[in-house]
Amino acid sequence: MTAQIIDGKKIAQNIREQLKLEVSKLSVKPGLAVVLVGSDPASQTYVNSKEKACQEIGFYSEVHRLPETIGESELLALIEKLNQDPKIHGLLVQLPLPKHINEEKIILAVNPAKDVDCFHPVNTGALFSGFDTGILPCTPAGCIELIKSTGVALSGKKAVVVGRSNIVGKPAAMLLLQNNCTVTLCHSRTADLSAEVRQADIVIAAVGKAGLITGDMIKPGAVVIDVGTNRVNGKLTGDVDFVSASQAAGFITPVPGGVGPMTIAMLMKNTMIACLNPFNPL
Ligand code: NDP
Repeated sequence: MTAQIIDGKKIAQNIREQLKLEVSKLSVKPGLAVVLVGSDPASQTYVNSKEKACQEIGFYSEVHRLPETIGESELLALIEKLNQDPKIHGLLVQLPLPKHINEEKIILAVNPAKDVDCFHPVNTGALFSGFDTGILPCTPAGCIELIKSTGVALSGKKAVVVGRSNIVGKPAAMLLLQNNCTVTLCHSRTADLSAEVRQADIVIAAVGKAGLITGDMIKPGAVVIDVGTNRVNGKLTGDVDFVSASQAAGFITPVPGGVGPMTIAMLMKNTMIACLNPFNPL
């Protein structure tokens, strides 16, 4: 079997075009503020892509590029200012942050109604409790869209998520559960990763280890979503060994051109939702 490639770039482009159309009909401009601390090259690339997507769609966008040395209280003051700014509907602080800044404090400082990354415990709690805030975590929601694009029904399927981070693995498992999958969440202490993955009709790999998931671990016909972004000899590569896995899978995402563009598209969608229908839990 040779898997069909899920074209995340194209699916993300369709979402952006839809948003562009919607924004052209609005009297208000959705606004996204991104705060970047320091000069981590990967973070700079992500922030530039977010800024570019805003421009393309017609959103108002602000990027605050701050030095690595900025103090926590200064950063908190900027977040508070953006929380109050009526032009800003979505606000995110690009992670990771320098060690001297408490990441949890920063996540808690963002107004949950503007938390388009869906990192604030109010929003993650809402997700786990099944409250409909309209905002879904970007990368996991992008994964679900990619799975749905295959036409494969999720209900009743066995899904295995590899990686249990707050940003990807845990919320991805929760979204799969909401879509009536039977979900297994694997991590670094999982006793037999191959055996777990081999049972999966749907695999989401979010580890950060190039080529960890190999073709012999894939159930024939499975849908394989590769979230991993690893640099190997200067080349971007996923957590799934694409060549061997695509011999077994029914559908597979490439890296690059799979999950990455979807993350940005879902962020744009969240900004639109936060603008039109702000969920204000406080
Ligand atoms: P984290 O480092 O926060 O989490 C990695 C997870 O993988 C942990 O839960 C860890 O387990 C688990 N893990 C590590 N080694 C193994 C192993 N050998 N077997 C099974 N599980 C293992 O990473 P993130 O979730 O933030 O990111 C994961 C990957 O996805 C990265 O490559 C990142 O760059 C990429 N990414 C891509 C995005 C995109 O838009 N394309 C967006 C976000 C992330 P434990 O908890 O036990 O330590």
